[in-house]
Amino acid sequence: MLGQTAASIAAAVRSRKRSAVEVASETLTRAHQLDGKVGAYLTITDELALAQARHVDERIASGEILPLAGVPLAVKDNMCLAGTRTTCGSRILEQWTAPYTATAVQRALDAGAVAVGKTNCDEFAMGSSCENSALGVTRNPWDLARVPGGSSGGSVAAVAADIATLGLGSDTGGSIREPAAFCGVVGFKPTYGRVSRYGLVAFASSLDQIGPIAKTVNDASLLYAAIGGKDPLDATSVERPLEALPSRWREDLHGIRVGIVREFPLDVLEPELRTVYEAAYADLERLGAELVDVSLPTADYGVATYYLIAPAECSSNLARFDGVRYGLRVDEPNVGSMYEATRAAGFGPEVKRRILIGTHALSSGYYDAYYVRAQKARTLIARDFARAFESCDVIACPAASCVAFRFNAKSDPYSMYLMDYYTIPMSLAGLPSLSLPCGYVASDGAALPVGLELTTPLFTETRLLDVARAYERATFHAERRSPALTASEAAVSA
Ligand code: GLN
Repeated sequence: MLGQTAASIAAAVRSRKRSAVEVASETLTRAHQLDGKVGAYLTITDELALAQARHVDERIASGEILPLAGVPLAVKDNMCLAGTRTTCGSRILEQWTAPYTATAVQRALDAGAVAVGKTNCDEFAMGSSCENSALGVTRNPWDLARVPGGSSGGSVAAVAADIATLGLGSDTGGSIREPAAFCGVVGFKPTYGRVSRYGLVAFASSLDQIGPIAKTVNDASLLYAAIGGKDPLDATSVERPLEALPSRWREDLHGIRVGIVREFPLDVLEPELRTVYEAAYADLERLGAELVDVSLPTADYGVATYYLIAPAECSSNLARFDGVRYGLRVDEPNVGSMYEATRAAGFGPEVKRRILIGTHALSSGYYDAYYVRAQKARTLIARDFARAFESCDVIACPAASCVAFRFNAKSDPYSMYLMDYYTIPMSLAGLPSLSLPCGYVASDGAALPVGLELTTPLFTETRLLDVARAYERATFHAERRSPALTASEAAVSA
């Protein structure tokens, strides 16, 4: 099981060389041994996982063909899984049990996956390091003194530490891609509307998208194929059928024009990081791609635009946590003070900051100046991408401006917001975008992964995955394992 891909585990379980129950037991044992160090999980769902695994074995025995047969899955704790806690990393939902299962999770289970547990995240998915979780610390398996990235840091760390083979994350402005880059795994955000948001606790509804986290592009595509597609329970999920995944993946990148963004020059990065990206671009070219210069003149407004739209939507979405319907209630003599006391005690500082910014941006007199202007900027950013894609097939750029940093290294909110500089524009434009390992830099004795971000036009996931896989196959960066994990494994067995 250790180090194996979802594809190989599913093949072994389908052919009954291994049972899903064996795979689940092994993964649960390892999760209990290692997770004290990594902190990927908020809840490990032992009994449920074993029950699901038994069910998978029965389905296989009855002749069903399950693409994800027995594959251990980590689910970010902002997605509902019936009968388990769904905390969103927040005190306000710490004791809240989901009464139903999110569509994306259910589809993964229907395809044979086995949910190992619910993973830590920044509170309500607001953050880029997992440090905003009120319920636990998640560490980067490559260097336990560093953050895993966020907000889907738990799912990403679980896959990187091999205490899950696949992960589900959510990405609003970069929360799958940035942590994937920090932990050396593949993180894929499909086109907005491709994957149902039903059962995902809403943060910013016009941006939120669920997507796969995996060790390889092929594994990510298997999970995507399972979870994607129209869901009558989410009106924003699109009717458009999923394109079939390539029956034969491309071997090289001949005929592919890769856009290199003029406004994202590499010389602003630390020299070591710059060297990795230069080598990655050169590898794309070596594989036959033609590198073309493209321009996204308004991308630089992405962060400012996002930090009006996302808080505005969150201020409205989070109004439902009022002490009446879900989770925490702090009793007070009257309803007004009960709301106040509940929200004051239940939400952490970053969530409160976002609610304040969003409420202000939507208030009368400021709405046009802030919210409407941000929407206009969003349209311009989407147009820039559409224009760029007239001269290229895929855009390549850094997934993050640095490697995983140490805990408490970003003390002001703005420097944390800038962590999503390279991922937010794609989110605002709704585009499919993916981060995959493209190299490593040495930092204080640790090798830390670097992520390359690839982005394609709306609804062209197949092209994106195909190009990413060709790059992955030719470069082998994904095959490296985290040394911190090996050290911690040794410590566990000692
Ligand atoms: N880091 C960004 C934020 O805090 C993006 C989060 C996300 O994609 N969920 O809003």
